[in-house]
Amino acid sequence: MSLELKTQLEAALSPRTRAIAVVHYGGIGCNMDAICGFARKHGLRVIEDAAHAMGASYRGRRIGAQGDLVAFSFHPNKNLTTIEGGALSFADPGEVERAERLRFHGIRKLPGGEMDVLEPASKSNMPDVSASIGLAQLKKLEQFNAKRAALARRYFSKLDGLKHLRLPAPDRPGHAWHLFAPLIDFDAIGTTRREFIEAMQARGIGVGVHYLALHLFHAYRRLGYREGDFPNAETVGARTLTLPLFTRMTEADVDRVCAALRALILN
Ligand SMILES: *Cc1c(COP(=O)(O)O)cnc(C)c1O
Repeated sequence: MSLELKTQLEAALSPRTRAIAVVHYGGIGCNMDAICGFARKHGLRVIEDAAHAMGASYRGRRIGAQGDLVAFSFHPNKNLTTIEGGALSFADPGEVERAERLRFHGIRKLPGGEMDVLEPASKSNMPDVSASIGLAQLKKLEQFNAKRAALARRYFSKLDGLKHLRLPAPDRPGHAWHLFAPLIDFDAIGTTRREFIEAMQARGIGVGVHYLALHLFHAYRRLGYREGDFPNAETVGARTLTLPLFTRMTEADVDRVCAALRALILN
């Protein structure tokens, strides 16, 4: 495992640590070999936020094939959608059974059509209509992700070398390309992200921010987190800008986005 990752994991470990939660940000698989190995060694669970990683893999293994609990999202802006909903994948069959119970009133079905209720639970089952949309989408997933990867490669070729802009980690096999989010040094350009976003909007181009540094939200400040606690998250949070990337997009659309970026950055 990379020394840096190992050092970071060790620094975050305390006697109260129970699990490692990872996010496969933008669709790029985290280093699961290293993370799962570290977790096993320290008796921790691995929980994966795979909302960006439907169809992604890491070193030839699908995201979802390892890890104790993996959560996918099928929200409309994700690589595959069921309008709303998602999927969970588990290592332990007993946890599958419990999750199935928790998603539907805590019910256990008994032979002969009878039932028992084992614990309080919610109603979070996926409606059949959503499931059938998902099955139709699933057939096209590889095609969707291939299109996203082609658009990402076009962004790389058009934005290579543009100053004040740092490209995302490059394409690699298994990247689901949910997001294409370079970092832009707005201070160096003499602007703010808000003005930059408005200028892109004025050119008919919608861009987003994924994500601000979470520990600076009120809900986390209330727990005692402050500026300076996570300097990398703060730098990324201040500079990140998500460019358009969707399956209906054309290479000409990418070129138009890149021309607008170039004009605004080099003003
Ligand atoms: C969308 C998203 C979620 C939440 O997914 P829901 O289906 O809305 O619950 C969680 N994590 C990340 C990183 C996401 O992008």
